[in-house]
Amino acid sequence: MADAAEQKTGEACIIDGKAFAAGLRATVGAKVAKVKSEHGLTPGLAVVLVGEDPASQIYVRNKGKQTLEAGMNSYEFKLPDTASEDEVLTRVEALNADPDVHGILVQLPLPEQVNEARILDAIDPAKDVDGFHVINVGRLWTGLPSLVPCTPQGCLIMLKDTLGNLTGKKALIVGRSNIVGKPIAQLLLREHCTVTLAHSRTQDLAAECRTADILVAAVGRPQMIRGDWIKPGATVIDVGINRVPKEGEDGKTRLVGDIHFGEAVKVAGAITPVPGGVGPMTIACLLNNALIAACRQAGVDVPD
Ligand code: NDP
Repeated sequence: MADAAEQKTGEACIIDGKAFAAGLRATVGAKVAKVKSEHGLTPGLAVVLVGEDPASQIYVRNKGKQTLEAGMNSYEFKLPDTASEDEVLTRVEALNADPDVHGILVQLPLPEQVNEARILDAIDPAKDVDGFHVINVGRLWTGLPSLVPCTPQGCLIMLKDTLGNLTGKKALIVGRSNIVGKPIAQLLLREHCTVTLAHSRTQDLAAECRTADILVAAVGRPQMIRGDWIKPGATVIDVGINRVPKEGEDGKTRLVGDIHFGEAVKVAGAITPVPGGVGPMTIACLLNNALIAACRQAGVDVPD
């Protein structure tokens, strides 16, 4: 796939995020088995869920299940949606102090009475498996070892596997959030791409998109990016997860990305679908981060 633009003859190659995620989970599982047998170390991942948000409950359940399947310890803490900021902070501080817990994830969004930034800031940076703490953000941007946010990490793994060396590629990321757009930009800069970050005030977004060898969409607007915005042969990563009504089926919904997949697949060289693209990689990368965090805290090397 190294020269997707030259090889393009028909529909884009579909990047199978489920298969990538299964591979990464298996690799993490094998490494966990190794650190257990060689060092007696069992990584532990704690998830804090505040409130009853149905989507968050599903994510947390999946995370717990996959953590156990990888051979790690999984700890789940549920607080009511009336929980105060101090109650959430007390839970985070207890987990910071617990030597069996190597990774802490506070499921977002938090109820409005709880200040998200204050909670994320309270997590021990060494246990910050989401990579959202300012210390990890700063380390990422200055090229120091850090815990890298999971969704961006998943995007990079799939891009490198699809394209090989990314040096010199023109990458456009649509969306500049702290948790997706900005860290993806930094990871691609580190791979020597020429990076542009686009956002809601970008002038002529379609023209900007048409210049990109790598197009990453992280906007949260269903099918906003059309086929004729895409450079023929480009590699397209769709981070967006949007629920839209299913045509002709009252009350039913389906998931779509930020890219108009039906149009884009005819133009791109390779593309991630929604669902089944970036989404499955996020939890697999979380497990990888928990393993890295555990090894660093125990002072042992992450197995090759
Ligand atoms: P945010 O809402 O935090 O950020 C959205 C970004 O899109 C902002 O930078 C905003 O610009 C930009 N934007 C909004 N409208 C436009 C527009 N019309 N043209 C150009 N840019 C625009 O979202 P997130 O980064 O948290 O998430 C983005 C998407 O990714 C969502 O669909 C989310 O569900 C999904 N997601 C998927 C994950 C996965 O595991 N696959 C994980 C995390 C998120 P501005 O800054 O100017 O407001």
